[in-house]
Amino acid sequence: MSSRDEEGDLGRAAELTARARMGVAFTGAGVSAESGISTFRGRDGLWHRYDPYQVSSIEAFLRDPGRYWSLAAERWRSYAAARPNPGHLALAALEAAGHLRGVVTQNTDGLHRDAGTRCLVELHGNGRRVRCLDCGAIEDRAEVQARLERELPPRCGTCGGRHLKPEVVLFGEPLPARALMEAFELARGCDLMLVVGSSLQVYPAADVPSTAVERGVPLIVVNDEPTPVDVAATVVLRGRSGELLPRLEAEVRRRREAGDTAAPSRSPSSDGRGTSS
Ligand SMILES: [Zn+2]
Repeated sequence: MSSRDEEGDLGRAAELTARARMGVAFTGAGVSAESGISTFRGRDGLWHRYDPYQVSSIEAFLRDPGRYWSLAAERWRSYAAARPNPGHLALAALEAAGHLRGVVTQNTDGLHRDAGTRCLVELHGNGRRVRCLDCGAIEDRAEVQARLERELPPRCGTCGGRHLKPEVVLFGEPLPARALMEAFELARGCDLMLVVGSSLQVYPAADVPSTAVERGVPLIVVNDEPTPVDVAATVVLRGRSGELLPRLEAEVRRRREAGDTAAPSRSPSSDGRGTSS
């Protein structure tokens, strides 16, 4: 892509985003990768080193929680050190400015929350919490992590059970019903869908952006590799989300400040009182 095309695509994406009042960002592993969290798929994905069904399925976990935790312990180090990157921050800024209604994410690292995103739907759970499958007690992941060196698998602090599971969705488990419902609700009401850093290979999560696309809502894809919805996209921005989203956000802000688009407002016109516009 020539740089002129690139600028044109960014401008078109900014125009669509600046107009949006109820946009939704759907994010995947690519967004977290730029914070140092290794992805499962993709070129250097963990799944090239491990068979996911052997280490990250609910069956494997129940059979041998110790083996699950020995790998999870290693993986947690990159989670614990990770901080939001400029892509996370740009999405939070677009929400604060009234263009996005929220973020639906496949990531379990909590970085969107750290960046300031307020409406966040975590489709695959959140790895910072651990739940005892025996008694239901919830613990902080960092506290469980601290005991792993002397205790594998870790024991529940409440009942002593040995099935402490991070609150993430493992293979073979259904997605949390409430999160799924909230995600589809956002997709059904949005006026822009922004798919960022997801290769959309996991269902039913990947059906969330499709729901918006089927309604004819503009679709912007930001990803460094082709995705199955590129063909349906209004604009595809190819590259790293940590570089492209801040540029997009800056351009949207520039247009807003220049008065190219009306300042977003959640109020009257949609609640039936119908003030002038
Ligand atoms: Zn317990």
